[in-house]
Amino acid sequence: MINAVVFMQQYFVKELGNPNEQVLLDNEQAHHIRRVLRMKTGDIIRLADGTGRVMSASVEIEKDAVYANIIEEVIDTSITKVKMILAQGMIKGEKWDYVLQKSAELGVQEFVPFVSSRCVVRLKDEKMDKKLSRWNKILLEASEQCKRSTLVSLANPCIFSDLKKINADLRIIAYEDADQISEKLCDVLASHKEIKSILLVVGCEGGFSKEEVEELVADGFHRVSLGGRILRAETAALSLLSNVEFFYDMEGDRK
Ligand code: SAH
Repeated sequence: MINAVVFMQQYFVKELGNPNEQVLLDNEQAHHIRRVLRMKTGDIIRLADGTGRVMSASVEIEKDAVYANIIEEVIDTSITKVKMILAQGMIKGEKWDYVLQKSAELGVQEFVPFVSSRCVVRLKDEKMDKKLSRWNKILLEASEQCKRSTLVSLANPCIFSDLKKINADLRIIAYEDADQISEKLCDVLASHKEIKSILLVVGCEGGFSKEEVEELVADGFHRVSLGGRILRAETAALSLLSNVEFFYDMEGDRK
């Protein structure tokens, strides 16, 4: 196995194949290789199947098709030690796309959009199918760009109380209205060192009502403060994700 972070470009394919086998790349990938990156036959790429397996491959450019000749398995360093599930209150426009993209980069395994009482985005939307496929595309492209070996699984948008049905070893709701009852993120993580999965719930622009927070706390969620400033929803999500990865992944490295 080789460490292939250096390889220029990664593509997700359905069937990865084994060394010495050949994979046909789809039209969009072929176009990207040929016209955008102007690769030549023999150039090296990474292929991933979304489940955690990654292979190096050499490109073979033919007249009307582009193939990848599988070389060998690549050491994968992209998976976080603790599986992160982000439940994000739906926010509008570009900020939503931004959270999706950055979540993929920061290692989220599952992304769950939800609406709560103060969200302006509605759940019933005729264009939801189209939106989901656009969001999946953002996640896929970000995953290729940051060379992760797994895809982010995007759930159908749900309502707030459905969040209680999501299983995880540790469940956290970030609440902006910090008071004595809120716990500090680092204290909560420090008392849950051996977990395998974590659910992080972040509100929309309007935040949460007291009742909503109490509903989750009554179900065993930890209500957590991210400090003395009110962060925008997208900042809160990214801050949580990077802090969680820092705590679990970097701590292991120090030992
Ligand atoms: N409209 C609200 C702010 C919402 S911020 C207000 O003006 O009070 C959007 C979301 O980001 C919140 O619901 C919460 O989940 C998270 N958030 C922002 N700042 C936070 C903080 N200091 N601590 C914990 N969560 C925070």
